[in-house]
Amino acid sequence: AAVEQGMISTYSELIELDKKHFLHPTSPIKQQQEKGATFIFDKGEGIYLKDIHGNKVIDGLSSLWNVNIGHGREELGKAAMEQMARLGFSSCFATFSHEPAIRLAAKIAELTPEGLNTIFFTSGGSESNDTAFKLVRHYWKLQGKPEKKKIISRKRSYHGVAMGATSATGLKPFRDFTTSLAPDFYYVESTGAALRSFIESEGAETIAAFISEPIQGTGGVHLPPQNYFKEVREICDEYDILFIADEVITGFGRTGTYFGIEQFGVIPDLMSVAKGITSGYAPLGGVILSEKIHQDLIEKTEGLFMHGYTYSGHPVSCAVALKNIDIIERESLVENSRVMGEEMLKGFKWLQQEHSIVGEVRALGLMGAIEIVKNKQTAQRFDKPISPLIVEESMKYGLIHRGVIYEGADTLIFAPPLVISKEEIHKMINLLDKALTAVEKQLELE
Ligand code: PLP
Repeated sequence: AAVEQGMISTYSELIELDKKHFLHPTSPIKQQQEKGATFIFDKGEGIYLKDIHGNKVIDGLSSLWNVNIGHGREELGKAAMEQMARLGFSSCFATFSHEPAIRLAAKIAELTPEGLNTIFFTSGGSESNDTAFKLVRHYWKLQGKPEKKKIISRKRSYHGVAMGATSATGLKPFRDFTTSLAPDFYYVESTGAALRSFIESEGAETIAAFISEPIQGTGGVHLPPQNYFKEVREICDEYDILFIADEVITGFGRTGTYFGIEQFGVIPDLMSVAKGITSGYAPLGGVILSEKIHQDLIEKTEGLFMHGYTYSGHPVSCAVALKNIDIIERESLVENSRVMGEEMLKGFKWLQQEHSIVGEVRALGLMGAIEIVKNKQTAQRFDKPISPLIVEESMKYGLIHRGVIYEGADTLIFAPPLVISKEEIHKMINLLDKALTAVEKQLELE
């Protein structure tokens, strides 16, 4: 039955309705039923979120690595309102268009690495990757090579939850959610040699593309091995395989450059984007294509280009994205991400000295991780994952972040909004220091 807005006022009612009617995305479903929602958020400002009781917490992962410009930006609300009032929706199918999508597409072409000048819009990262997989296969079909259809990704990768995106995800628990996946997806270890030997054993004539996050996010913020992407680019060129960079997290300043792949000095053939493109204020994603692919699509597609979402190029999302990019530029947030990222890494290194359970630490821009270990010298883990205890403890002190425990990991991950200041970084580190101390005490008592 419908719940009239405003009728439900008390907290316990909200908790009960949440349990009964709202199946949460990627959630500990039993715990949600037993304990109810941890926070019911109501407001955001900068790096902070406030719940309906007024409790204020640092949003240490920019919610889902996406609120790059921070919370509470009225300018974005205004941009959305104006666009909605003027033209809330019109189709971009066929030969229809509108100014927000055109302007955003052109703006993104200015920001991307050389030669990546055309975008296909989606509503988010999963749709972007599914689009990329269909596009590369379509592309090879147009080249007269329809048998080039296999997609290679990396172990520990995350590419989303649509059917293709799940199938490309190296993290097994995400694939194990369901029983039947899309065919022709394969996962390799993160070395050039592993990629090359896989291609040689399968046959390059059967492979469409290789996809990789410049920095693996959900898998635990893993930086690539030295020279990895240079080798990947060379191998892809050598075997005529397209290289898709999944920039869903790393795009729009997260790593201290506009796109993550720029850190490694190579240019992919396609890039998937989402998240930071609107800082989460409206759903939007896209696949950015090289001029060569775009030209080939134009020349060789007979009849219609048979792929499009109702919300491909949603005018309100595009207007929000334009304002978001305006703010990123005006406030030099890409540069701030680089500088504050260094400050965050310094803080992690200090925590490493202070705490026996802090092992390897790493960060690139405002994307960082702390390994939790039993023994620093050998990097041996505890018998059970400790990061969930730390995450829970941090929450009590007013810091939200995430623990990664997939496939034997025990890792804390961080990605605060790009607007974070030096003082706020120090605050985050201090809260983490308290949480680590509390958990170390618990472990001593056990
Ligand atoms: N690709 C990467 C690298 C991601 O981190 C994510 C989401 O976290 C996705 C794709 C999926 O994006 P979405 O959740 O918007 O579908």
